[in-house]
Amino acid sequence: MAKDEVLECSFCGRKKPETDLLIAGLDAHICDKCIEQAHGIVIEEIAESKSSSLTSELIVHKPKEIKAFLDQYMIGQDQAKRVMAVAVYNHYKRLLQPESKDEEEIEIEKSNIVIVGETGTGKTLIARTIAKMLNVPFCIVDATVLTEAGYVGEDVETILTRLLQAADYDVTKAERGIVFIDEIDKIARKGDNPSITRDVSGEGVQQALLKLLEGSVVNVPPKGGRKHPDQKFIEVNTKNVLFIAGGAFSGIDKLIGKRLNRQAVGYSASIKEDKVDETNLLQYIIPSDLKSFGLIPEIIGRLPVLTHMDPLDAETLRAILTEPKNSIIKQYEKLFEMDGIDFKINEKALNYIVDKAVEYKLGARGLRSLCEAILTDAMFEMPGSDENTLEITEKYAEDKINKSTLKKLKAVS
Ligand code: ADP
Repeated sequence: MAKDEVLECSFCGRKKPETDLLIAGLDAHICDKCIEQAHGIVIEEIAESKSSSLTSELIVHKPKEIKAFLDQYMIGQDQAKRVMAVAVYNHYKRLLQPESKDEEEIEIEKSNIVIVGETGTGKTLIARTIAKMLNVPFCIVDATVLTEAGYVGEDVETILTRLLQAADYDVTKAERGIVFIDEIDKIARKGDNPSITRDVSGEGVQQALLKLLEGSVVNVPPKGGRKHPDQKFIEVNTKNVLFIAGGAFSGIDKLIGKRLNRQAVGYSASIKEDKVDETNLLQYIIPSDLKSFGLIPEIIGRLPVLTHMDPLDAETLRAILTEPKNSIIKQYEKLFEMDGIDFKINEKALNYIVDKAVEYKLGARGLRSLCEAILTDAMFEMPGSDENTLEITEKYAEDKINKSTLKKLKAVS
């Protein structure tokens, strides 16, 4: 090359003076603009191939398979299992639908879910179990910590920070994850009238949640919170994220009862035929009850699948203790086995635990606390000792509970 010849980019032909930087290769040159453009193409191509390989990895389970899987880990709650199985199945069918620009094409909408049920009835368990089956990132967030932007608390975008963390910051994976929003009832509007003053923890948060639920590109702080002001945001598209919201909606049974009574006046003949089960009013829940409770209609619209959890009776609690694949008792068996200890618990002791859980109104979560109270001494004393069998009888269980702090619960309740 002659010395006075002006160098140029071998891709776009720009002369050296027209570029900010011209990089030399063996036989060619490339300018800063072409590098930028090429980089953009690389990023796009990689994302595309990743997403199509994810789609081919996606195994869509039929609703009956999903329910059968749930049955292994969860006792009862048939209605919720069926509704969830169908919603999840439809959600994944939607993911597999090729993107089409055709206006005529029928677009399947998101099937975000809301589960209403008393605390400890398995709302989190059902969501977690489904995520386990589908092998997608899953996170649980608590709606009570969320506030409107600018107030003390967490912005709604931090929900997606958790999802990103669950996906090891793989954005493409996170964008097909499942988010469980716990205690959604705690952001209900207080009182039935829209307030004129700002409602920091209620309606404002519901408004902020809307855009996440319906599907949009959200700027997510990768480290969450406001403690890291200079972190770079990551864009996450929530179009294919499945949101499952759960809440106890304490007192909603009364609203349902009232509504049913009103209907009974209007249509007395039909109601008399199907007798209302007063012990489980949640089974009659309809979206308008959520509105009466204080969720705004837009949020209810973005959570189109509504289901409920049945209260746990003694029989169900007894089954929860031993039947699920990783039941509480099976877990203790395993823990003792790791120390070479043969652990047994007799039927009467199991029934005693169930009676106490019912008496203390602790639900399924209480079963665990009761077992801990009964077994902590043995788990402390036995490892390393000569004893290698442990048989829990009703008397043993009773003695340990009477000594434990759980006993005090009775006085409180
Ligand atoms: P919620 O989210 O409704 O408050 P969780 O899902 O956290 O309740 O349930 C609490 C615990 O109770 C779970 O860890 C699970 O072991 C147990 N549990 C609740 N319901 C069931 C059920 N139907 N079958 C098996 N275990 C259950």
